[in-house]
Formats: sequence, C-alpha cells, structure tokens
Amino acid sequence: MKSSLPACLLFAFFVAVAGAGESGHDRYIAKVFEQLKDELLVLSHDPNPNPGKLADIQKRMDQLEKETFDLTKGESGICPVHHIKMQIKETQIAFGLLAVKEPQPDSKTRETRFPFARDWIVGGCIVSDGSPKTGKVFLCPKCVGAEKAWMKAHEEK
Ligand SMILES: [Zn+2]
Repeated sequence: MKSSLPACLLFAFFVAVAGAGESGHDRYIAKVFEQLKDELLVLSHDPNPNPGKLADIQKRMDQLEKETFDLTKGESGICPVHHIKMQIKETQIAFGLLAVKEPQPDSKTRETRFPFARDWIVGGCIVSDGSPKTGKVFLCPKCVGAEKAWMKAHEEK
C-alpha cells in the first residue's frame, strides 16, 4: 500500500515552522498535530510501516479533515455581529495557491465587521485523494453586504 504520509508530514512541518495561517488546511494540520503527532512521528521514521497501522491513521486523518471543513460545527448559527440567523451553505474548498484581489480586509476587520461573508473555504494544499472537495459554512447576508461595501470603499482606483 502506498501512502502520501511522508510528503504530508513534510508539509505539516513546513506549515508549523512558517506559522499557521487561517486556511482550512492549517487548522487541519494543527488538529493532526494535536491528536496524532506522536504516532505520525513514529511512522515517519519507520521504513516499513505496518499497512494496517497506516490505513488506520489515514482514516483518522481523513475524519479530522472532514471535520475541519465543516465550519458550522459547534457554532451557534447566529451572526455575532448582526445577530441574525445564518444560512448553511455547502461550498467549494479552494485548494492550492489562491490569487486574491488586493486590497483585502485584514483578519481583525473581517472578524469584527463581517465574519461570515465568505462562501468558500481556504483549503491549502491537497492532502490526499480522499480529501473532501466541499465543506460547510455559515453565510450571513448582512456580512456579505458589509464585505461588498468594504471592498468597494477600498477599491484601487
Ligand atoms: Zn453578519
């Protein structure tokens, strides 16, 4: 059985060193680190890892990954800024390097003024063939409007 584990791990260390960002992949890596670090470290040093063990850990990683991209889990469903009920949207995960239009609101602006305006999820790199292609987000119509207004006000002339 072939596994993408070592490459993944390498990337995980890179992300850990470079400083975790806010992409889904970073959150996923953080979770993997938190819960599977010791086992992964042992596995990464094993030239002939047990296939059953590999499959098991891959399964647990896939499960964690799925949870990572369900951004509605554990949230109230009420926008903390606009105090209205939000819609749940099944949405695409954007993998790879993202080309974003500048300028972009910083994370503090986003958090305090329109935390639920994004209808897509920042994925990071593709971890495995089993990686989820879609995730779930809350979408607040007032946040969407506020983000649009911000973008318009900060448009480069
Ligand atoms: Zn809102």
